[in-house]
Amino acid sequence: MGLEADAALRERASAVMPRGMYGHQSVNRLPAGMPQFLARAEGAYVWDHDGNRYLDLMCGYGPQLFGYAHPEIDSAYVEQLRAIDTATGPSGVMVDLAETFVDMVGHADWAMFCKNGSDATSMALMAARSHTGRRKVLLATGAYHGSSPWNTPVPTGTVADDRAHFVHYVYNDVASLDAAVAEAGDDLAGIFASPFKHDAAIDQELPDPAYARRARELCDEHDAILVVDDVRAGFRMTRDCSWSELGVEPDLSCWGKAIANGHPISCLLGNDRTKRAAGRIYVTGSFWFSAAPMAASLVTLRLVRETDYLETIVRLGTELREGLTAIAEEAGVRISQTGPPQLPLIMFDQADGSRDTVLGDAFATAMLAQGVYVHPWHNMFISAAMTNADIDHALDAARTALRTHT
Ligand code: PMP
Repeated sequence: MGLEADAALRERASAVMPRGMYGHQSVNRLPAGMPQFLARAEGAYVWDHDGNRYLDLMCGYGPQLFGYAHPEIDSAYVEQLRAIDTATGPSGVMVDLAETFVDMVGHADWAMFCKNGSDATSMALMAARSHTGRRKVLLATGAYHGSSPWNTPVPTGTVADDRAHFVHYVYNDVASLDAAVAEAGDDLAGIFASPFKHDAAIDQELPDPAYARRARELCDEHDAILVVDDVRAGFRMTRDCSWSELGVEPDLSCWGKAIANGHPISCLLGNDRTKRAAGRIYVTGSFWFSAAPMAASLVTLRLVRETDYLETIVRLGTELREGLTAIAEEAGVRISQTGPPQLPLIMFDQADGSRDTVLGDAFATAMLAQGVYVHPWHNMFISAAMTNADIDHALDAARTALRTHT
């Protein structure tokens, strides 16, 4: 099937939306064959407006942890929607959810809820400055923490002053972290860290425990705040904050995406040390207190605790990775697969080691044509709604894609 209905929607969109689409879901920068608009979603699959079905290896850029239209999660959402949702005051379900997060996430003694990951990271920035009364915050070069004026990757429309007090360091590089702390001097408010290096279009890197421990140590020495941005990886690495596996507890952690399996809610979690400072910042939003996403989150968190979803996504991701390694070897193609297998980034290299973006784009286009939605340079996401048969389907498609494009 073609993409005629999608093309018609895109044309109408370009008349009434700047550049037809914006942000990370715009397909303007992506290879041919990607539908811009999707009409339906269920389990591990999405359908476009032309009726094409795709195994969705992007999981909505992360939120789908248990699969689209999950019956139990969505029933809780609908039931809460009918009782009370966006109203003049929050529902008691907000307290249930805060208690649940505090019980589940080791470093957390409190929770504040918001809508998007960018809300949570901006609140973390404010809470760190509120706690310390200082300005400088360390960010890893290239790390994505949202699209607010202080961190949007394309600075058009922002001013240099928006980024006046950030110092950059190299992820996993202790010496550069030390140097950045020295540069911040007695104005150091905090250090932001991604749970692993998951910057777009470059190989992913797992965190070096020595780097994570040093970040904690530096924050302790300087009475600064350590922030782990778990918006993308939260609950796909472990059932706690992602750095808990390394024995490193941040003061603040940012969450979003998967915490309600696609329903709109994010949060900032913090320890007792930061509670008073967080209570002094003024942050809010018309939809931040809506109860239905909170009810959906409560069920999602129960599934996180009570099911083997994590073991499932690691197993499926590993099968995909190992299968692709074998297929690429057969085809004589240099494939680069990095990061945790349940958050796979798949790219291709040329013989001289440089990135083969032409093959990457052709691979994505060929996979789409066979009903597998892959991204050529952003990490993907495995969900617990996927099955062995889905992974086999993706591998069959990859075999054909590499045979026809190499
Ligand atoms: N932090 C990280 C690590 C993210 O991956 C993202 C979203 N991709 C954000 C923050 C921002 O989240 P949102 O798009 O929900 O504002």
